[in-house]
Amino acid sequence: MLVILAPNTDENAKEYQKTWEFLSTLPNVQLRKHIVRGMQQRLTEIYLIGDTTRIDSEQIAALPTVERVIRISESYRILGRHKDSQRAVGFEYNGVHFSQDNLNVFAGLCAVDSREHTEQMMKALQENGQQCTRMGAYKPRTSPYSFQGHGKACLPYIFELAGKYGIKVIAMEVTHERHIEEISECLEQTGRPTGVILQIGTRNIQNFEFLKAVGRQLEFPILLKRGFGITLSESLNAAEYLATEGNANVIFCLRGMNTSLGNPHRNFVDFAHVPVVKRLTRMPVCIDPSHSVGSREKTPDGLLDVFHATAQGIIAGANMVLVDFHPAPQKALVDGPQALLLAELPIFLEDIDIARQAYIKRTQLTKKLETRGEVM
Ligand code: PEP
Ligand code: MN
Repeated sequence: MLVILAPNTDENAKEYQKTWEFLSTLPNVQLRKHIVRGMQQRLTEIYLIGDTTRIDSEQIAALPTVERVIRISESYRILGRHKDSQRAVGFEYNGVHFSQDNLNVFAGLCAVDSREHTEQMMKALQENGQQCTRMGAYKPRTSPYSFQGHGKACLPYIFELAGKYGIKVIAMEVTHERHIEEISECLEQTGRPTGVILQIGTRNIQNFEFLKAVGRQLEFPILLKRGFGITLSESLNAAEYLATEGNANVIFCLRGMNTSLGNPHRNFVDFAHVPVVKRLTRMPVCIDPSHSVGSREKTPDGLLDVFHATAQGIIAGANMVLVDFHPAPQKALVDGPQALLLAELPIFLEDIDIARQAYIKRTQLTKKLETRGEVM
């Protein structure tokens, strides 16, 4: 059961304390408080965990400062959608809005290899009106002999260049708690020229202690990549690990499934699950066409498979695109063969726009049916 308090409820107020005391005395129930910080208001949510079947929700709703009481299903308590719930979806970070209703593109380097390539990438993004990017500094690699990323050493120039080219948010993978501190310290030292979304890769999705550590910090939002060899439900539960520790600013990223049945793509493209994740949870949904497709193969219609997969995700309602570009893919130290070229950036963005407009038209079409009372 979820008890939502009136916006900006003061926890020192007598009314609040009265409600908290009452809830604390409920037998066989544990309380877990969760604060949702929005731009305009602060929301306190209290989760009642345990045997809540016999609790009278009307009695709880009548307690001081309580705005609403929602009975929630067992799964995805914080990030899930629940019956009768009109809880807010999305969040604002460093001037960029993330929700299930809009779309942000994060084109950039899979792995940062040099200052020169980072600058070329960011300059191209600015020229094309972009304010977000992806920049890998810490790379989890299958082989210990492969390039592991420049790590902490490249952060100062990534942040400095982001400031120079008006990049507001960088998606950056972290594989250890220490990386969060390094990012935070470097942002501070460079005067906070940009913001960072912490990316948790597909390989770390069931590293529960790591998930808890990332969820405990509230400075950065989190981009969680679906596990490539586990069920969707297992991946969504991993997202819930982040939220239960306090950070519910989570974006869920589909990146393809690891199966030999996926040939000819690197992973089996799973973008048909975009609407499913939006139905089950309140998380904005990202697609990663680069790691799903994994090549620059082209179809007879002239479009790259990466373009096709991107459009398929967007026409299904995706809210974010994480995609590999490189100024000189032949020199890239990681994933060069799947990178798009800077010259392709304007066309890629235009193609995204076509798919997004098509998605918007599709949702308007179903609204027509609803207003006529004919349900789809
Ligand atoms: C990446 O985005 O660079 C990456 C390693 O992705 P994934 O965790 O999906 O393999
Ligand atoms: Mn990669």
